Amino acid sequence: MTEPQGGQAATAIGEADVLIIGGGLSGTLLAMQLLRLPGARHIVLVEPRPELGRGEAYSATELGHTLNGNAARMSIDPDDADDLTRWLQAHITDGGWPESAAQQVPVAHLFPPRGLFGRYAQQRLAEALVRGKVQGSSLTHVRDEVIGLQTDDRRVQVTLKDGRQLQASIAVLATGMFPAARTAQRQSSGLNAAALDPWDVAALRGLPVDARVLIIGSGLTMVDALESLNQAGHRGPIEVFSRHGLLPHVRRQPPAWEDFLSQAPEIRSPLQLLRALRQHCQRAQAMGIDWQAPLDTVRVHIPRLWSQASDVQRRQFVRHVRPWWESHHHRSPPQGNALLQKLLKEGRLTIQAASLQGVASSDDGRPQIRLRYRGQTQVRVVEGDGLINSTGIEYDWRRVDKALPRQLLERGLIRVGNLGLGIAADPSGAVLNAQSQPAKRLFAMGPPLRGEWWESTAVTDVALQAKALAAKLVSL
Ligand SMILES: Cc1cc2nc3c(=O)[nH]c(=O)nc-3n(C[C@H](O)[C@H](O)[C@H](O)COP(=O)(O)OP(=O)(O)OC[C@H]3O[C@@H](n4cnc5c(N)ncnc54)[C@H](O)[C@@H]3O)c2cc1C
Repeated sequence: MTEPQGGQAATAIGEADVLIIGGGLSGTLLAMQLLRLPGARHIVLVEPRPELGRGEAYSATELGHTLNGNAARMSIDPDDADDLTRWLQAHITDGGWPESAAQQVPVAHLFPPRGLFGRYAQQRLAEALVRGKVQGSSLTHVRDEVIGLQTDDRRVQVTLKDGRQLQASIAVLATGMFPAARTAQRQSSGLNAAALDPWDVAALRGLPVDARVLIIGSGLTMVDALESLNQAGHRGPIEVFSRHGLLPHVRRQPPAWEDFLSQAPEIRSPLQLLRALRQHCQRAQAMGIDWQAPLDTVRVHIPRLWSQASDVQRRQFVRHVRPWWESHHHRSPPQGNALLQKLLKEGRLTIQAASLQGVASSDDGRPQIRLRYRGQTQVRVVEGDGLINSTGIEYDWRRVDKALPRQLLERGLIRVGNLGLGIAADPSGAVLNAQSQPAKRLFAMGPPLRGEWWESTAVTDVALQAKALAAKLVSL
């Protein structure tokens, strides 16, 4: 499909029309959309991983690490909602994913493993490349990390870790998420140094089977961690701590509900949204309909509501609504939830509301965490045999200790986004510099735009942004 260019001279790669930094789902979908559009263009994708389309989320190898939405919700083609369902159907018919039969539901209702989803994205990219080549387009995967970038009104130049420099007319930051467990952080709480990676089944196998495991964070990453522990053969007690002690609800497949927000432009603040949502959920429940039905209509309006909100309103949302939004909206796949419920029932799993105050280790090297339980002032120490960091994603680029974010911030080529989340950009994705002027040649998409849109990470967000950004870039 793409030709890895490790070690090749920059001149051989040539000046790119579009240089995409990061070949996870975002960068891959942008390349796919660019290849599908009429016209010839030379696209360069810089991604250190050997495979495109996987990134952090879809490099998963465990079958239990599934998408949190069923196939009918997770198409990467905004114009074709059935695309993933059709691909899965064909894949299963060809003998792929035989374990899916155990779910006993129609293909559209299946929750595929994330690794399989990565394969789907790769196949759609390969097809787009075949189509693009007919028009004279090309795609080059450069396996390296971008560590520096300069731009003026005419072009962009990037520096790779191996010292090479690449030129492009336009560059796009598709650098994705920085999972807290895997990212070197500038102001570390010490958690990462002591904690195990929630997705690293091999490392978890190193724990005694009956180990007392402490987990920080109770969201979807924690559900993945339970799955990893289960795969590693763990049979001991698991204690989960998070500020509010809230668990993600399980994703059901509710019927359609009226899109009430499209008929209510007066709803602008988080408080108004919550009130209206509560009314609709109560109405649904009175009619015997799942509360998830009205909630699911809100999603498409979040970027508009967030970008219209004032800073005070955004802060209110983050402070008061966020934990509930996360647990109700970012719901758990049924398989992960079934495991969680089983562990709760067996008494092996406990969830407690407490905030982490510090991390240390005992004389014999066992992890110790200092916790302040909700509603209490006293700090208590809890000791385990293993510790897992499931706090999710680090969105604040000032805290991420990586070369490119650091260099872009230091040079004032970017500025941090609203509430310190990701980076600032105009509505088209052109990044704003330290003086808040939009760049002519530098764009961003996906998780880095969290501060601009709030929901800017899920498959559907990224797929929509890729389509819109590709259209914008070819019009320049
Ligand atoms: C564990 C996990 C599970 C998820 N599950 C779901 C789900 O079930 N449903 C859903 O809708 N969403 C899910 N998401 C969210 C979403 O789908 C992903 O965040 C999405 O894959 C974002 O893709 P991305 O390419 O922007 O980011 P990433 O996957 O983070 O990829 C970014 C890529 O950029 C590369 N990169 C970074 N910096 C540089 C650099 N300087 N130079 C070159 N390359 C660079 C990295 O190597 C990486 O491969 C999940 C996210 C995670 C982390």
